Amino acid sequence: MVRPTAVLSVDVECFSHIPAYRNAHGSLAGSDTDVGLSAIEVLLDRYDAYDAVGTFFVVSDIAERHPEIITRIVDAGHEIGSHTHRHVHLSEIDTAERRDELRTSRETLERVADSPVTGFRAPSFDITTDHFTELAAAGYEYDSSIVPCRSIPGWYGGEHTVQEPAPASRFVEGAPSTVTELPVAVMPGLRLPLTGTWLRFFGVKYTILGMKLLARRGIVPILYIHPWELVDLPRVDGVPRRVYWRTGEWLQNAVERILSERFTFVPMNSL
Ligand SMILES: [Zn+2]
Repeated sequence: MVRPTAVLSVDVECFSHIPAYRNAHGSLAGSDTDVGLSAIEVLLDRYDAYDAVGTFFVVSDIAERHPEIITRIVDAGHEIGSHTHRHVHLSEIDTAERRDELRTSRETLERVADSPVTGFRAPSFDITTDHFTELAAAGYEYDSSIVPCRSIPGWYGGEHTVQEPAPASRFVEGAPSTVTELPVAVMPGLRLPLTGTWLRFFGVKYTILGMKLLARRGIVPILYIHPWELVDLPRVDGVPRRVYWRTGEWLQNAVERILSERFTFVPMNSL
């Protein structure tokens, strides 16, 4: 039987980039701001062990500070996409700053990776109504910032129902035809995300069941993880406990379980 296709993408950001850390009153010790990056090697090993290829959406200030990490990812055969330059919420900055985030990150990543960057994912899946117009103007070809889930109070959702890759205009009226949206996987029926916090809360069997149900419907499950979720996070005053739940070894094992399933894991620019 032919293996169905799946995507395990990585949002390459540090613990210090996440809103829960930025909003906390405590902080990391000075030299600790790169917490999470050590997990990139762990991930590359796991992908390699299962002949999996993925897309790594990189916060480009990391690429500037650690070009060697990007080179490692590219040399291992993975795709580089953009996760902005500073990991700020796009709806909280003005148009000029948004344009700068889109352009600077793409140019920085293309220079460091020495290969084209065509994909984008917004921090916290937070986008504006002109998002696709700005993406097209900045030279991107696809986006993966829509989670077609039910409305989750305090998070997002409730706005989109299309579950499969489609022209951006199917998601947002008037969006340019040159941009494709590759929405993140949600559980059929339940309509909650398959990864992120929900993988850590509901467990890996939930995620794998969702992958199989989507594949049966002919939809490629698009999952995502963060490197900081795979390390033992330092305690910081004010960061909610849910952020720590099942990080470190638990998630490393979950990633291994997912990659060992009968799917072919591909980069998003191949879809
Ligand atoms: Zn992010």
